[in-house]
Amino acid sequence: MDAADMEAKLERVLLTEDQIQTRLRELATLIWADYEGRELLLVGVLKGAVLVMADLMRDLPGSVRMDWMAVSSYGSGTKSSGVVRIIKDLDTDITGKHVLVVEDIVDSGLTLSWIMANLGSRKPASLEICALLRKPEVAKVALDVKYVGFDIPNEFVVGYGLDYAEDYRNLRCIGTLAPSVYR
Ligand code: 5GP
Repeated sequence: MDAADMEAKLERVLLTEDQIQTRLRELATLIWADYEGRELLLVGVLKGAVLVMADLMRDLPGSVRMDWMAVSSYGSGTKSSGVVRIIKDLDTDITGKHVLVVEDIVDSGLTLSWIMANLGSRKPASLEICALLRKPEVAKVALDVKYVGFDIPNEFVVGYGLDYAEDYRNLRCIGTLAPSVYR
């Protein structure tokens, strides 16, 4: 789905498909240089990270492995509840592995802080984060996001995997919704 298909429901395009793809290629280059010679496991957080994972892993010039977690921290509203629950755990034992968590967005950072503590307790060889988007709120928690795609303003965004009440994940760009959508 393109921005034009959203008609009046999309208020503003924040990041175009091209901008997203260019930045992901840059991140892939950085990541590949950092993990050279090491076996890398990418851990995606469902469902938002599906598209970031799909594009980022194809930008890497060698084989990596992939696993998924599903947690719930948001209902169908637009504010983080701070409550994290594992809905689907990893299939892989990550002990001794180099793990890179791939996320769509870090907002309050509550979800990722919890995930990092949980994964860290499983004793991986290394554990880092790659997030396509980061909001300013995250400065409030001690969370080191090693690879950041874009720092964005504190607005609720949809598209490229990000939903509003499960809609708009298949939008190619990232943008904000018109206020009328929330009514
Ligand atoms: P946090 O715990 O960092 O506040 O929230 C993390 C999760 O909240 C993200 O993985 C994402 O699912 C959701 N989230 C945070 N901000 C946004 C946003 O602007 N748009 C959408 N669609 N989801 C968001």
